[in-house]
Amino acid sequence: MARHPGMRTVRRTAQAEALSADLCVVGSGAAGLSAALEARALGLSVIMVDAAPQLGGQAVNSAIGTICGLYANGMTPGRVTHGVMDPMLAELTASGQATARRARNTLIIDYSVNGWMRWVERQVLATDIMPVTGAVLRAVERQDRRIGTLHLATRWGDLAVTADSFVDASGDAVLSWLAGLDLQQADTDIHGTIMAVFEGVDTDIVNGMPRETYHAAMRARGDEFGLVRHDGFLFPLAEPGKVLANMTHIETPQDPVGLARAGMLGRAQVDGLLALFKAEFPDAFAEARVATYGQPGIRQTRTIEGRSRITVDGVRAGHRPDDAIARCSWPIELHTEMADTHWEVFADDHMHWIPFGAMVPQGLDNVITAGRCIDAEPAALASVRVMGPCFAMGRAAANAAAQVGAGSFHQIDVGALQTAIADNLETTTDDPWTAAFVSERGREADGV
Ligand SMILES: Cc1cc2nc3c(=O)[nH]c(=O)nc-3n(C[C@H](O)[C@H](O)[C@H](O)COP(=O)(O)OP(=O)(O)OC[C@H]3O[C@@H](n4cnc5c(N)ncnc54)[C@H](O)[C@@H]3O)c2cc1C
Repeated sequence: MARHPGMRTVRRTAQAEALSADLCVVGSGAAGLSAALEARALGLSVIMVDAAPQLGGQAVNSAIGTICGLYANGMTPGRVTHGVMDPMLAELTASGQATARRARNTLIIDYSVNGWMRWVERQVLATDIMPVTGAVLRAVERQDRRIGTLHLATRWGDLAVTADSFVDASGDAVLSWLAGLDLQQADTDIHGTIMAVFEGVDTDIVNGMPRETYHAAMRARGDEFGLVRHDGFLFPLAEPGKVLANMTHIETPQDPVGLARAGMLGRAQVDGLLALFKAEFPDAFAEARVATYGQPGIRQTRTIEGRSRITVDGVRAGHRPDDAIARCSWPIELHTEMADTHWEVFADDHMHWIPFGAMVPQGLDNVITAGRCIDAEPAALASVRVMGPCFAMGRAAANAAAQVGAGSFHQIDVGALQTAIADNLETTTDDPWTAAFVSERGREADGV
C-alpha cells in the first residue's frame, strides 16, 4: 500500500531484545532497590527488573507507609541498618516526607509513598542502572548450577537478560522457582492486606482515639460490613486529613485469577471498613473517602532452601550465627488468623540475626536471594521480612555480588563481606530525632 504522508509502515521483528550487565536484580522492593543501588556504587553494571510498571515493590505499590526493623529495642533505640538507607532517610526526613514514632518497643519511620518512589527514581536516573519495568520474568536458562539468561515478557515483546550474577528480590523466590529447585512454603495461609488511605478525615479525633475503640467496633459490627479482620491500625499521614489503614486480611494465592479476586474482595473490605467508621464515628469520618487502595500486599509466599535456615528458636534466643550479615529486633508478627494478628514483642536488649547462608540457594552458584523469600521458618520470617532488614539484606547481596565475579556465592569470603558491611553488624547510631523519643517513652504507642 502506498505510504501516507506522516505515516510509516512498521512490522514486528522476530528477534527478542537483549540486555546484559554484571548483575541483574529481580524485584525493586526494599531488598532489590538496596541491592541495585549498593551494587552500582560498588562499580557493578546493574539491570533492575520488575513486573510492575514502576519501581518500588510493595513499599510503593502496596502503600505500606512504614519502615520497621530499622532500630534496636528499648529506651534508647539506635539505628541498626545503614548504607543506602542513610541518604534516603536523610533526604525524606529533611523534606518532611518521613518522620519517626515509637511502636512495639522501638522506633519506626512513617514515609510518604510518593516521596519514596520519587527518591528511588532520582537515584536510578542519576546512575546508569538500567530499569526494566513492566517485565515479568517467565523463564530462566540454567546450565548446571548457573543461571545464564532470564526471559522476560514485556508489553513490547520478549526481552532476554544476561548477567554474571543475579539477586532474587522477587519476594516469591522466582529465580529458584523457575530454575526448578525445591522451595518451602508455610502449611498455614499467611494473609496479606489491602492497605488504604482515607482522606477527608478529622485526624485530631482519630489521633486521640484509643485503638481499642475502633477494634471494638470492628468486633461488634464487622460481620455486618463484610469485614474479616478485627484488629490493625489507623495512623495519620503527613498530608492533612489523611490516614493510612492496615485493617483488612486477604488470601494471597499464587495464581493470577485467585489473587485478582482476593484483591477485589480486599477492596470491598476497605469500603466496608469506611462505611463502619462513618456509622460508628461520624465526627471523624462523615466526610471521608478512599483516596488510595494499595495493590494486594503479600506478606509471605515461597522461600528458598538455603545453606541455613532462620528458626523461631534462633530468633527468640537472639542467636548470632558466624555468617551474620544483618540484624533486627522487630517482633514476630504473624498474620495466620483472619481476625487478629499475633505479636511477640522482644525485650529491650534483644537482637536477632540473618545468616548469609539463608540467602544462598543450595542448588545455584550465581544467585543470591534477598528480602522476604530467604530461607526461614514462617514465624521466623515474620520477624525479618520488614523493610529495615530487607535493606540490610540487599546491601549484603550487593557486596557479595561485588566479590563473586564469575565465581560462586557458596565460596564467598564471609569475613570480608562482614567487614564491608560492618556498620550493619556492629554499630548502633542515634538519629537526630532519637532523643525526642527517649524522653517521650511514656507515650509509646501500642501498635505499628
Ligand atoms: C500489608 C503489608 C503491610 C506491611 N507493613 C510493613 C510495615 O509497616 N513496615 C515494614 O517495614 N514492612 C511491612 N511489611 C513487610 C514489607 O513490606 C515486605 O516484606 C517488604 O516490602 C518485602 O520487600 P521485598 O523487597 O522482599 O519484596 P517486595 O516489596 O514484595 O518486591 C518484590 C518485587 O518483585 C517483583 N516480582 C515478583 N515476581 C516477579 C517476576 N516474575 N518478574 C518480575 N518481577 C517480579 C514484584 O513486582 C515486586 O515489585 C508489610 C507487608 C505487607 C504485605
